[in-house]
Amino acid sequence: ASKRQLQISITAFGRHERLLVIQDVTRLRQLEQMRKDFVANVSHELRTPLTVLSGYIETLQDLSAELPPRWQRILQQMSEQSGRMDVLIKDLLMLSRLETTRQEPPQWLDLNALLEQILRDARALAASKHQQVELQADAPLQILGYPGELRSAFSNLAFNACKYTPDGGHIVLSWQVLDNGCGVFAVQDNGMGIEAQHIPRLTERFYRADPSRSKATGGTGLGLAIVKHVLLRHDATLEITSTPGTGSCFRCVFPASRWQTGKQLTGPDQQ
Ligand code: ADP
Repeated sequence: ASKRQLQISITAFGRHERLLVIQDVTRLRQLEQMRKDFVANVSHELRTPLTVLSGYIETLQDLSAELPPRWQRILQQMSEQSGRMDVLIKDLLMLSRLETTRQEPPQWLDLNALLEQILRDARALAASKHQQVELQADAPLQILGYPGELRSAFSNLAFNACKYTPDGGHIVLSWQVLDNGCGVFAVQDNGMGIEAQHIPRLTERFYRADPSRSKATGGTGLGLAIVKHVLLRHDATLEITSTPGTGSCFRCVFPASRWQTGKQLTGPDQQ
């Protein structure tokens, strides 16, 4: 038999009264686990047929010069939609892994190199919209974590800044240190901004402040959920501030124990 899981909470009333609640959450946890397994399995199973379909679409595209223009357009759309589904499945699998995988010990990583990589990727995306992307982080820095996850989280934020900022906009990626020793990776844009009522819900799966616009930008609605989970695994938090029409700032706040400065890293695992 599986172990029962109990959740205990104590609430204080006045000076002497305390309310003790003991809840049996075994079934709740089991259902939650079933949901996670289901999403992971479905995402995994969808991959194979999609790969086959994409292969056929590519084959047809190779022959498309011989097809009538209307068919060429249809093929183009099929290719775009299968590409979207591919990104969606990758994001779902990434979220499942973040929720379920046990962690290896984290490693000290060269944060400057990681930020340079994010900067290059963001600039590649920003070029088509004539946006400027800038990085403000001088001192050599290291962060204790998982390189693939951090890259994914930081680039989601940088890409969102490009996506939700009009042509010619300005985006700043930065690393700042707070008085309390926390280290902050921030992405500031001067784009469309977000209405206050949406901010607390942005990290929910598939939540979008402006569904029609977000879909047009080709996002999956999972980016910020991934960011939240990655940060959780790094003892870090996400802070969002935004003014509609003026811009947004997404800040990843890492505790002092998770970053350091000054030392040089060597070794095969460093980027
Ligand atoms: P999506 O794939 O739709 O971009 P995300 O989870 O990355 O999904 O973001 C959720 C929503 O948050 C977006 O649909 C958008 O409405 C809003 N959003 C995220 N980043 C920004 C930003 N920099 N400026 C304005 N809105 C943003």
